[in-house]
Amino acid sequence: MMGVEILQNENLKKHCTWRIGGNAEFFAKARSINDIKTLLKFDKNATILGNGSNVLINDNGIKGLTIKLELDEIKEYTRFVEVEAGVKLPYLASYYYKSGYGNLTFASGIPATVGGAIKSNAGAHGSSIGENIVWVEVLRDGKVVRLDNSECGFGYRISGFQKKDIVLKAAIKKIKQDKSDILEKTQNFMQYRRATQPGGFSAGSVFKAALLPCNAQFFTNIVRADVPILPKHETASGRMSPSAPTSTSTSPPNIKHNNSSFLIPHSSLNSPIPAGLLIDKCGLKGTRIGGTIISQKHANFILNIDNASSKDVLDLIDLIKEKVYNNFGLTLNEEIIKLGEF
Ligand SMILES: Cc1cc2nc3c(=O)[nH]c(=O)nc-3n(C[C@H](O)[C@H](O)[C@H](O)COP(=O)(O)OP(=O)(O)OC[C@H]3O[C@@H](n4cnc5c(N)ncnc54)[C@H](O)[C@@H]3O)c2cc1C
Repeated sequence: MMGVEILQNENLKKHCTWRIGGNAEFFAKARSINDIKTLLKFDKNATILGNGSNVLINDNGIKGLTIKLELDEIKEYTRFVEVEAGVKLPYLASYYYKSGYGNLTFASGIPATVGGAIKSNAGAHGSSIGENIVWVEVLRDGKVVRLDNSECGFGYRISGFQKKDIVLKAAIKKIKQDKSDILEKTQNFMQYRRATQPGGFSAGSVFKAALLPCNAQFFTNIVRADVPILPKHETASGRMSPSAPTSTSTSPPNIKHNNSSFLIPHSSLNSPIPAGLLIDKCGLKGTRIGGTIISQKHANFILNIDNASSKDVLDLIDLIKEKVYNNFGLTLNEEIIKLGEF
């Protein structure tokens, strides 16, 4: 095919940060929108890959064509910076610092492409890419469509793009700030990451924060202190809880912990609590299956320490979900995306 090389049986381990997975039946790198359009003629259902930092690729690989997006142009305009989907977030964060724009400091430690980050509304330290977007251009049914921020459906680690939309580029806000403040903030964030997250082969956090049927601080107090806060027969609303909590429950809920049940106030439902805290409190840090291990440093990270398979990861995920459910009555949902036929 003119200008775009298509490889066969490309090993996908080297295209994802977990270093797990089989081969792509066909594989190509796209460096322009025209490349993508050309490649979609070869396989209209092609799988899209950014930097592979949030994916679990099946040991059996991916059928059809996998397209790795490497479009990397950055253009300055008065109100925003126009950035193509393949630009890496740490590079963009450093571009923002050099230009004196302070609104992407949170992104410096996220090993994503702009396209992948927009698809999952990546974020950290209380900020996310979604809140910095002016518009996004996607390839939808062969046509380039521009969507304003309000049409992108950004939420906690989600966006509302259609399943087959390919993010091509985005206009990202630029907010002037003192360079020394930007540097200080970035250094603090990076230091925090180094202190709390492990190095090695991972896909970052495996699970999303759990949405609690109660106030997060209240729950954290229970988990950390291992003591009941309210007597079992009382709730803030004065009613007994009839059922085990679910993440969508709106009835007065109770929480299970250490074989005890705690009734909780009815206010502040659905506040998020870090999945890592729940996994840690189940005593799972250091648990190993096959070539994978739950990090001692951060319980929401599963590390590939010895030629792990996707099955090893899935087995560990199942174990974590079961233990967290049995201990807390909460169902964890994966943040990572599975690619290939699972
Ligand atoms: C060490 C480490 C730390 C991390 N820290 C954070 C963090 O702080 N916050 C956070 O949110 N995430 C974090 N992550 C996870 C990850 O970086 C993000 O989820 C990121 O958004 C994934 O981007 P990517 O380019 O790697 O996407 P990929 O992993 O390549 O793809 C993810 C999904 O997006 C799709 N996709 C990719 N590009 C496009 C596109 N252009 N158009 C349409 N679909 C596309 C893919 O098909 C796939 O379904 C971390 C990961 C690691 C390894």
